Amino acid sequence: MEKYDVKFKKKLGQNFLKDKNIVRRIVDTSGVNNSSLVVEVGPGGGIMTKELSAKAKNVLAYEIDSELESELALKLDGLSNVDILFQDFLEADIVSDVSNYTYEKLFFVSNVPYYITTPIILKLIKSNLHFDNIVMMVQKEVGERFSTKPGSREYGSITVLLNYFFDIKKEFFVSKKEFVPVPKVDSVVVSFKEKKKKLKVLNFDFFERIIRDSFQYKRKNIKNNLKQYDLNVINNVLKKYGYDLNVRAEMLNVDVFVDICNELWK
Ligand code: SAM
Repeated sequence: MEKYDVKFKKKLGQNFLKDKNIVRRIVDTSGVNNSSLVVEVGPGGGIMTKELSAKAKNVLAYEIDSELESELALKLDGLSNVDILFQDFLEADIVSDVSNYTYEKLFFVSNVPYYITTPIILKLIKSNLHFDNIVMMVQKEVGERFSTKPGSREYGSITVLLNYFFDIKKEFFVSKKEFVPVPKVDSVVVSFKEKKKKLKVLNFDFFERIIRDSFQYKRKNIKNNLKQYDLNVINNVLKKYGYDLNVRAEMLNVDVFVDICNELWK
């Protein structure tokens, strides 16, 4: 069991893994190999960084808390293929940082700080970098929301948005007892593989807006949530899939949203 000599900061989502077997399982799930560059957010006390360093060509890690510097230096002593940038990942220029390395495949592997899970994923998407695999530990409920199917209670705007880009898979459950300090929530490891074939969205910002508007009022149907758009156009798209304007957003898969968005944008 890993021991840490640090003062944990709750507001930075500092719950560190203790068990190397879990870390190993996460890294194995990712498929990282010795020709890969791995981006990690939040190395914390370095438990995952160390395992990544053993498997990857290079590890580029972003840690917001510079007070962890001495702990990380101690734990990662002598590992020449790890670079830690002490900065807020959300402010980082990852495209430029990644361009300093040569690699065959790019990966993202992280036990992310849960308070910024969605902003991290959106940042990865907007970077336009091609990740061979994105593997993250997230709050269990959030992982379920990401990977659920239309018609379920958890299905929401973020599900549609992420499922446009990725095939998302829940890999395995991790109990809150595996962390120090013990958080309030359980976790799940989720992988995101870029979709090989996806319908093309004509304007991504508009797509994002349509999705958010469609889910704005959970109990309302498409006719009400999208009343500011051309409902005739929307109805014609819905008919193709066997629906009408009374359907709720939670019933529609990502392809229907792409079609609606592109027809309205034309
Ligand atoms: N990887 C370690 C592990 O698995 O034990 C620590 C994971 S802990 C859940 C999340 C880490 O992210 C913390 O070390 C925290 O300081 C760091 N962090 C929080 N916000 C961050 C941000 N905006 N940018 C970079 N790191 C951040």
